[in-house]
This record gives sequence, C-alpha cells and structure tokens, in this order.
Amino acid sequence: MSDALLSVTGLQAWYGRAHILDGVDLTVGRGEVLALVGRNGAGKTTTLKAVMGLIDARAGSVRFDGREIAALPPHRIARLGVGYVPEDRRVFAELTVEENLEVGRQPPRPGAPHWTPDRLYALFPNLAEMRGRRGARMSGGEQQMLTLARTLMGNPSLLLLDEPSEGLAPRIVQQMAEALKALKAEGLSILLSEQNLGFAAAVADRATVIETGRIRWTGAMPALLQDEQARRNWLAV
Ligand code: ATP
Repeated sequence: MSDALLSVTGLQAWYGRAHILDGVDLTVGRGEVLALVGRNGAGKTTTLKAVMGLIDARAGSVRFDGREIAALPPHRIARLGVGYVPEDRRVFAELTVEENLEVGRQPPRPGAPHWTPDRLYALFPNLAEMRGRRGARMSGGEQQMLTLARTLMGNPSLLLLDEPSEGLAPRIVQQMAEALKALKAEGLSILLSEQNLGFAAAVADRATVIETGRIRWTGAMPALLQDEQARRNWLAV
C-alpha cells in the first residue's frame, strides 16, 4: 500500500535472549482499521509495544506518515500523532474523569480529529454521566473507556489499541465497538490487537494473523471469517 499511514517491515523484538518477533510486516492505510489477531502469547502486545518504541531490543523498519520512527523513543512517537492504549487500564485513580481527560490534552494536530471533553462525552455517554467520579471508583470497563478517551485528548492520527474488548461486560463490549466505528468515521486510523474475532470483525476492514512472532495471513476481514483453515491453524485454541 503506497499511501499507508503506518508501514511496518521486518520488525524484530527480543525480551532478553527470547526472540519474540521474527520479521513482522503490516500496513495500516489512512482511515483504515486493521485487526492484528492471534492466540494468547502470539506476539500482539509485543508488536504494538515495538511500534510505540516501548521495547529496547528491536530492529526493522517502522514508517509512520512517511517518516522512519523505528529508532525514536515513545514520547517522540506520541508527539508525532500515535496514541497507544495498553491492555491494562491506566487511569489516575485519585483524579476525576474530567481531570483524567485534562491530563491527556494536547494542541490540535493538522490532519487529525480534534477532541475536546464535550466531544468525547458525546462519544462515551457513560463517561459524561460520571465526569466528577474518581478513577478508583470506576469499573474495569469504564476505566478502559476513560483510558481510550484520555489518549484521544492527544489528537492522534493513529491509534494502537491493545485488546480493547478484553474483560469487558457484553454491554460495554458493544459500546466499545460502536465507539471505535465512530472513531473510524472521524478518519482515525487504528491498529487493533484482538483475540476476540467477533469484536475484530465488527470494527476492522482488514485482518492480519500473527503466530509465534510471524505474520501468517493478511487479507480482508470477511475473507478471514470464511477461511476455516486459517482460523483452525492460527486462531483456534
Ligand atoms: P496476550 O493475549 O497474552 O497478550 P500476545 O499475543 O499479546 O498475547 P505477547 O504479550 O506479545 O503476546 O507475548 C509474546 C511472547 O512474549 C509470549 O511468549 C510471552 O510469554 C513473551 N513475553 C511477553 N512479555 C515478556 C517479558 N516481559 N519477558 C519475557 N517474555 C515475555
């Protein structure tokens, strides 16, 4: 894809001596949602962390918006417009919803949607209802939404989302899926790591399948749903 917003080529990563990623290639087009799917331990989280610059022992090329970012530290990558939402929720427990959002506030960025607390409350109505509540008094799912909303206050053009549906109640999973579709409609590009194929299918245009640190399959989401062999080989538990 020539006009890819994110283009990852030959990405390698190590934890100590353990060679975890062994040549990951993937692209996220502008305005596209790509699901990175795979079993537990396949390397999804490691891929997102390596793209974000959070793993020291890494090699390969990561191009974002036409620029090589593979050697940059995470705060520089964030400043260029990449938002990272980790699997574990990162809310400030002593701060209210409103204050948590203010912590994430950054100036508007050309070419990326501009978020304000009011726009985010429209996207996440349950956060609007609890804007004065402290993080510590929110459920896991609510904290997950707040972590995403706070990241959006940085006005990213690309979101790296690590298993956003994990551990959420079904009603909240539905809300999360709707929110991600709305973000896509705003023009945001998203790389989404997921174990839940149903959730990935609801929001992603394309899928790429990872197993033991290598990409095994890439194609349109509906094609993956129809490819029983691919699902059996790399996704079934
Ligand atoms: P999960 O759904 O469990 O998050 P994943 O696909 O995101 O799975 P990763 O978390 O990227 O997988 O893990 C890939 C491999 O790296 C696994 O074998 C895991 O045990 C290993 N690993 C992850 N973190 C570390 C670490 N800090 N030190 C050593 N090995 C690690």
